Order: sequence, then structure tokens, then C-alpha cells
Amino acid sequence: MSPEDRRAPKAGAPRTVPCPTCGEKSVFEPWNPWRPFCSERCRTADLGAWASESYRIPAQPDDERPEGPEPDAEA
Ligand SMILES: [Zn+2]
Repeated sequence: MSPEDRRAPKAGAPRTVPCPTCGEKSVFEPWNPWRPFCSERCRTADLGAWASESYRIPAQPDDERPEGPEPDAEA
């Protein structure tokens, strides 16, 4: 048994990726539940933005314009 046989993973050099929300380095490892985000806050913020955004797009039907209450005061 040689001491070189024990290849311990290099601690202190985890894989990191830029956090999609804040751009900070986030640890991209199995033990990071928020990956690829750096923290729960960033993950929640991104999900919230995404949800509200996708909620808006289909919720804007330009076919249902209520006509009447707005007088045509353009000319
Ligand atoms: Zn972040």
C-alpha cells in the first residue's frame, strides 16, 4: 500500500458555475441543492421571475379589448 494510492478528491477546488441570477460563482456539486444557483434565494428569485414572466405572456390576449369605455379623443 503506497500513500499515493489514496487519491483523495481535491477539497477546496469544487466545480463552480456562474449563478444565473446574480452571476456569482456557485458550486456545481451534487451536495449543492441550489445548483446551478449559488443559494436558495437566487433559485427562488429566478423561478419567481420565470413564473411571473411566463404567466404574463399568455395572459395578454389582444383580442379581448373592451371597446366603449374609452372615448376616441385622438382627432
Ligand atoms: Zn446567486
